[in-house]
Amino acid sequence: MNTPCGIIQDLLPLYHDNVCGAESRVLVEEHLKACLSCKATLDTISEELARPVYTADETKLIKSMRVIARRVRTKSFLIGVILTCLLCSVLYIGYLGLIRWNFNPVPVSLLQVSDVSQLADGRIVYHLSVNDNKDISFFRFTTDWSGSRYATPFRNVIEEKQQPDAVSLFNNYYLMDIGDANACYVGPEGNGILIWKSGMKLPAASTELEKLFSTPQNGESIGKG
Ligand SMILES: [Zn+2]
Repeated sequence: MNTPCGIIQDLLPLYHDNVCGAESRVLVEEHLKACLSCKATLDTISEELARPVYTADETKLIKSMRVIARRVRTKSFLIGVILTCLLCSVLYIGYLGLIRWNFNPVPVSLLQVSDVSQLADGRIVYHLSVNDNKDISFFRFTTDWSGSRYATPFRNVIEEKQQPDAVSLFNNYYLMDIGDANACYVGPEGNGILIWKSGMKLPAASTELEKLFSTPQNGESIGKG
C-alpha cells in the first residue's frame, strides 16, 4: 500500500494518542514500516508530548525561582568581592603595622656606650654604637618613679640595614638632658646602661663636642658624627 506521507503525517497525532480508527491505524503502521521520515515525525511527536507541561502558576513560580537564583548568584559574587577587599585591607594594614608601627627596643646586649662627658651647659654627651650595625629608628625618653631617666633606642621589627650615605644613627654621639633626674641610662627601663648618677663627676666634653653641640638645642637631639 502506498499512502502519501502527507496523509500519514496528518494522522500521526491521532495515531499517537490512540484515537484514530482501526483502518487508519493499520494504514499508518504499514506506512511506518517502510518510511523512515514519517517514523522520525512520530518520534518527534512522542518527545514533545513527553515534555512536562506547566500551568500558568507553575510557569510563574519557575520564573520567580530563576530570578531568585540569579539574585543569589549576584549576591554571592558581591560577597566574594567584599571579602576579597576586606582580606586585602587586613593584609595591607598588617604590612603597614609591621613596617611602620611595630618597633622594639634594641636589646641592651647590643648597645655599647663610650666616651661619656659633660658639656659646659650640663648636658651629657655619650657615644653609642650598636654591635650588629643595624640602624636605630628613634629614641624614646622616659623617667621612672625613682627619677631615673632612660634613653631607649628603638628599631623596626623588620630591621633595616644601615644606609651607607645616611647619618649613622647606630654609631654616633648623643645628648641627654639631666633635668630633674637623679640617674641617666641608655637602654630599656630597668635594664639600661648607667651613664650618670647623682654625685658622679663626668669629664668635661672635648672642644670638638662642644662645637658639635654648640647650636641651641631643645632637649635631646642628634649631632652629626
Ligand atoms: Zn511517509
